[in-house]
Amino acid sequence: MLNRRKFLALSALGSTALFEKGLLAAGKPNDFTAKPIVVSTWEPGIEANKGAWKILGSGGRALDAVEAGVMVTEASQNCCVGLGANPDRDGYVTLDACIMDEFFNCGSVAFLERIKHPVSVARRVMEKTPHVMLVGSGAQQFAISEGFPLEDQKLSSEAQKAYNYWLKNSEYKPVMNIESKGNRGPSYQPVFKSGEFNHDTIGMVAMDINGNLSGSCTTSGMGFKMRGRVGDSPIIGAGLFVDNEVGACTATGQGEDVIRIVGSHTVVEWMRQGLTPEAACKKAVERIVKIKKDKAKDIQVAFLALNKKGVAGAFAIHKGFSYAIKTGNIEKLIPAKSLMD
Ligand code: ASP
Repeated sequence: MLNRRKFLALSALGSTALFEKGLLAAGKPNDFTAKPIVVSTWEPGIEANKGAWKILGSGGRALDAVEAGVMVTEASQNCCVGLGANPDRDGYVTLDACIMDEFFNCGSVAFLERIKHPVSVARRVMEKTPHVMLVGSGAQQFAISEGFPLEDQKLSSEAQKAYNYWLKNSEYKPVMNIESKGNRGPSYQPVFKSGEFNHDTIGMVAMDINGNLSGSCTTSGMGFKMRGRVGDSPIIGAGLFVDNEVGACTATGQGEDVIRIVGSHTVVEWMRQGLTPEAACKKAVERIVKIKKDKAKDIQVAFLALNKKGVAGAFAIHKGFSYAIKTGNIEKLIPAKSLMD
């Protein structure tokens, strides 16, 4: 996990390498009108999209693809989503996820502990219960009844390292959000300052060969959050929304401010009114900035949208957000435009 300044500095370095590998391109979203297509948030989206493509590329359904795609990230101990992620301030990893298909079917879990694939539990909620959302011990009980194994409570070594560092001050005060670079390899050092929030999410939206849209979103939420805190990611309409007539959107960043404007639904409604995905995402971040006034400089929120034509676009409050795109012949990480540096 990186603070914003370091994140930006490292992004610049990382970008060079990614340009060389041909994976990073200047943001020209309208170049990518395609079907099937999958887009997802942040650099781990590259690997997640590959997982989704195994299904999309062979004619499969977008719903299956967005589940399989983010499962790659959930399973990765090298990333900040899933059980390897940072805990809450009491030392427990609590997970939130949701999924939505082309028929307005949706499922969600929040404050879920010790389950490796919350997105799959969310799908079971959608398909096997009359409900949309299950939380906490009820969600865990449901997951177990569906055959999901109860995993070890133990923190990953990286998360333990970060938590120990945070415990030195145990300060819970938002200063500036921290974006996860996604990669916490052997050289990882927790570099955040005490009191800073961090955000760890993958959101994915996809359109399959039949032109149907689906989306998924999964997160450990803010590291060192208050116990019981739930962000936007499992909230249908906030962290994710899909309207198969119009488009789909997912969000990342400070969840409280995404919930405040019911962000992803708002973006989809603006696409319905004719805005491009990028313009709709921009309008949503502008709304947050207007609400937050001076405090906007201290938070990050980004939206990523895909319309029914297969055009993707994104926009963030601050520089540093990127999204991964995959089509039949394109695989790129695209830096999103932002309102502020
Ligand atoms: N939106 C997520 C939350 O607030 C965090 C993130 O996107 O990293 O829980």
